[in-house]
Amino acid sequence: MRRLRRIKILATLGPASSDSAMIRKLFEAGADVFRINMSHTPHDKMRELVKTIRNVESSYGRPIGILVDLQGPKLRLGSFANGPIQLNNGSNFILDSIKEPGDETRVYLPHPEILAALKVGDALLLDDGKVRLICEETQGDRAVTRVVIGGKMSDRKGVSLPDTDLPMSAMTNKDRADLEAACETGIDWVALSFVQRAEDVVEAKRMIRGRAAVMAKIEKPQAIDRLEDILDVSDALMVARGDLGVEMPLERVPSLQKQMTRMARRAGKPVVVATQMLESMISSPVPTRAEVSDVATAVYEGADAIMLSAESAAGKYPVEAVSTMNRIGEEVERDVTYRTVVTAQRPDPEATAGDAIAGAARQIAETLDLSAIICWTSSGSTALRVARERPKVPVVAITPSLHTGRKLSAVWGVHCVVAEDAKDQDDMVERAGRIAFRDGFAKSGQRVIIVAGVPLGTPGATNMVRIAYVGPSDADV
Ligand code: PGA
Ligand code: MN
Repeated sequence: MRRLRRIKILATLGPASSDSAMIRKLFEAGADVFRINMSHTPHDKMRELVKTIRNVESSYGRPIGILVDLQGPKLRLGSFANGPIQLNNGSNFILDSIKEPGDETRVYLPHPEILAALKVGDALLLDDGKVRLICEETQGDRAVTRVVIGGKMSDRKGVSLPDTDLPMSAMTNKDRADLEAACETGIDWVALSFVQRAEDVVEAKRMIRGRAAVMAKIEKPQAIDRLEDILDVSDALMVARGDLGVEMPLERVPSLQKQMTRMARRAGKPVVVATQMLESMISSPVPTRAEVSDVATAVYEGADAIMLSAESAAGKYPVEAVSTMNRIGEEVERDVTYRTVVTAQRPDPEATAGDAIAGAARQIAETLDLSAIICWTSSGSTALRVARERPKVPVVAITPSLHTGRKLSAVWGVHCVVAEDAKDQDDMVERAGRIAFRDGFAKSGQRVIIVAGVPLGTPGATNMVRIAYVGPSDADV
């Protein structure tokens, strides 16, 4: 089964999309990776979803990625004694360590380390930024704030602190338990929420021990200040526009999205654009013009993937949302402007054999109008470097590792095939031709270019390029 678009689609699963029939429909409509959001999914449900996805995968014979998204340290207020309260502009409001229900003057903040870290002048955003407070006085275990933008406030609303460097890791105890359960289930990607620094990613990696790849969700200003360092230690980025748009002025989000997509491409690591892409499709079978334009922008930008959240997890039209993204992707990529934009942003190869070969393979394939670039890859790194070139010619990754195949399903333009490792170079060339023919990438008599590291199975050692004809015999198998 071949997709006609290069950008990948991530669909979040939830109440609207948990059974096998629906997951199958979403895959057929174009979902390449499924996301399980641990904020709303207990362990047994997560395991069941993984099992269902794996069953769907085996009936299509094409690797499907699974991304488990950890909730992260979402801070919340305590509760109020007499229902919701009204916070008025200009009045004072106290956050303290007293475990008593709150009122118009104060509320319990069950995070003592936050009270200790708050500085005078820091902003506090409550309930996704609907209410804004400024810290006026700190006393270690309590903070006096002034209400800048007032509104209603009720029990356990979220608190965002865009100005405060929080002395906490990106993982809570719940996240650690979720992470271990997810790794034991054998998932492919883990997304870390509210990453503030590279050490947050390093800490998660230490627990993961190579069992999954790590995607850092960029949704805090502290992470924006340290993007290069975070990207350095991560396997992928997510432009998490939901919380990013709470913690930063909304009008900064588009330029940050551009900056991140370009930075990730330069590094040759996948980048996902997420949140509210087709928000109105939660309740409507057709999107707004603005949403279509937003999805198209991410495609033009050369992002690796676009993501659906509530649209596929809890909306009324999950399949329509996926097929809408699919159609936008196909259409934009057919536009001549798309090529111009993607080519203009092509980063220079780094001074490695892998990059030199990836660049050369792309050039040869385009000059000779070859049918596909075929990467034999065990770790996936060859395919990642070829994808970084964003070639006009389709990219096929053949790997003996199911884990690599699933991981690559989130990467721009990579069609993954899991196959037994080649015996030798001739076997490799012959099977590359056969797979290209079988999956509709080349006809008999056409040529493909094969990129590999030989001897096979040495990760990260790309050193071979070969042009080969797809022969009539390839059609036999
Ligand atoms: P969330 O992350 O949906 O887990 O909050 C995405 C975002 O914040 O955009
Ligand atoms: Mn978020």
